Amino acid sequence: MTAILLSEVGLRDGLQSINRVMPLAAKQAWIAAEAAAGVREIEVGSFVPASLLPQMADTAALVAFAKGIPGLTVVALVPNARGAERAAAAGVDAISMPFSMSETHSLKNVRKDHAGVLVEIAATARIAADAGVHFAVGLATAFGCTYEGHVPEDRVVRLAEAARAAGAKEFSLSDTTGYADPAQVRRLVRRVHEGVGAALTTLHLHNTRGLGLANVVAGLEEGITTFDASLGGLGGCPFAPGASGNIVTEDLAFMLHAMGYDTGIDLDALLAVRAIIAAALPGEPLYGFTPDAGLPLGLRERLA
Ligand code: ZN
Repeated sequence: MTAILLSEVGLRDGLQSINRVMPLAAKQAWIAAEAAAGVREIEVGSFVPASLLPQMADTAALVAFAKGIPGLTVVALVPNARGAERAAAAGVDAISMPFSMSETHSLKNVRKDHAGVLVEIAATARIAADAGVHFAVGLATAFGCTYEGHVPEDRVVRLAEAARAAGAKEFSLSDTTGYADPAQVRRLVRRVHEGVGAALTTLHLHNTRGLGLANVVAGLEEGITTFDASLGGLGGCPFAPGASGNIVTEDLAFMLHAMGYDTGIDLDALLAVRAIIAAALPGEPLYGFTPDAGLPLGLRERLA
């Protein structure tokens, strides 16, 4: 069975788009339960100023907590090299930095143009290398932008190559705005693979228009091995209006299992994690079909 890594990003991408702050104890319970269900990588938060995103103010404490869980890869998002220094000091396993392919979105999101972000990538690559931390760059708005609309594929390839030259070790293609369709995913993954080779491992997809899982299948067929997802479909981008809803971890895990991929996840245990979020954020909409419908009769036996 082909192994696929499911990377939980709900604690970062999900919670940053919700105004309420989830208490630290609830975040810790979420991380512990999802890791116990077999999820091997969790992005626990981001190192941004607490004045900008108070929801992420406890990220260092979460890194310390998550590092106590054996076998879990602990990831944090950073907007710049200063954030990377804080992440490395907190002891993360991996740093993820967004690089928006739309310069307009980049200026709104991290207040830097492309040249400015490449300077931060080079500085972060040095910080990560010194700290022995993995460094990945997320090519954000790669499939389209709510400010600029169409994003040329040539530009995505060129900027990925520039980021690799600046020291990025791994890449994801991020559909920040939920614009992607399966044909486009297939095409852009192929083109970026030609540009940076096997360093492109990951897709970060949103389900804004209902194409999230169809886009996953397109990525699987092009050799993508890591998919970001958010428990209960929490998520969005505060600087990309109307872009809500990461792909749902529970539905993604069910689909991968049903298709015969190995994720290492116990589906029943994963479905039970949802109750922690529901209790900590009462009234917050949670998404996903599998949690409502339950697992198909016979699936457990077939997978056993
Ligand atoms: Zn996202």
